[in-house]
Amino acid sequence: MSDIIKLLPDHVANQIAAGEVVQRPASVVKELLENAIDAGASSIKLLVKDAGRTLIQVIDDGKGMSPTDARLSFERHATSKINAADDLFALSTKGFRGEALASIAAVAHVDLKTKPEDEEVGTQIEIEGSTIKNQEVCAAVKGTSIAVKNLFFNIPARRNFLKSDSVELRHVIDEFQRVALAHETIAFTLYHNDSELFNLPKTNKRQRIVGVFGPKTNEKLVPVSEETEIVNIDGFIIKPEFSKKTKGEQFFFVNDRFIKHPYLNHSVSAAFDGLLPDRARASYFIYLKVDPKTIDINIHPTKTEVKFEDEHAIYTLLRAAVKHSLGQFNIAPVLDFNR
Ligand code: ADP
Ligand code: MG
Repeated sequence: MSDIIKLLPDHVANQIAAGEVVQRPASVVKELLENAIDAGASSIKLLVKDAGRTLIQVIDDGKGMSPTDARLSFERHATSKINAADDLFALSTKGFRGEALASIAAVAHVDLKTKPEDEEVGTQIEIEGSTIKNQEVCAAVKGTSIAVKNLFFNIPARRNFLKSDSVELRHVIDEFQRVALAHETIAFTLYHNDSELFNLPKTNKRQRIVGVFGPKTNEKLVPVSEETEIVNIDGFIIKPEFSKKTKGEQFFFVNDRFIKHPYLNHSVSAAFDGLLPDRARASYFIYLKVDPKTIDINIHPTKTEVKFEDEHAIYTLLRAAVKHSLGQFNIAPVLDFNR
């Protein structure tokens, strides 16, 4: 029998990887914002048109890229963030897989403009479905602008699978908010179809939460803070009287990365036991800091799942910290006699 196995061409491999990394406009938003943060930006602008269907653009004032790096950034498994497998156990950057830009470029039209501080001129690159159409020198300011246009232009099935503009925009805003909440020392703005949805100056955690959720949030926040050997816990819970019957706001961040963690959610909820009105859910913004060696964030390409070495200890410490805050701020049960 003759041999039948062959290596897939890059553009095909990229499109397959894109299936996991780029599910909808919001996935692109997440990857581009994270790259801007990893580039050390102090101010990040997100421009979106038609809920991201026609345009998702992120403009940062970070370190920019050299002409060669600009080209390489679209190759699969090309990253400046790790060198060796060992680095995976001590990650300090959002990215490390080196597949976001390659995946995005496989399923969209991408315009990149970038300039490092110490260069006179910048680099401009146009890519369509993994093919570089143009690369030239251009005038630019320090930083990087990446515009992603016509998402899924070559995958009609994906495009048709997208939900209504309002649903897709909701996902975009969710990603934006998660990133903005994790990085209060960076200024963020978000425009949708030329109207400004958010303008968040550099600030502290409390004011960032207020900036994202509105001025009424301020009086609802109760600080939580606990330093231990295993984990540093910091953040806020929402006073039980303001908790919502619906899902509320549940935010966990580990080393400045938004994560979902049902087990830790249970820990916070347990601390609220007896304080919440019927069927209401605890709302919180909890920032955990742990030694990067004690977590594994490489479980899923979107990195919203994290495995902790000391999961049980963190559960207990977190529950105690939240209980402590509730006690300290004299929060007693809300009794509903009409039940
Ligand atoms: P990863 O973030 O996992 O390294 P990406 O595909 O997202 O992979 O990006 C590839 C590389 O391109 C990054 O490692 C980085 O060197 C460079 N890069 C991407 N976006 C930016 C940016 N906004 N500013 C500077 N460099 C960037
Ligand atoms: Mg990245």
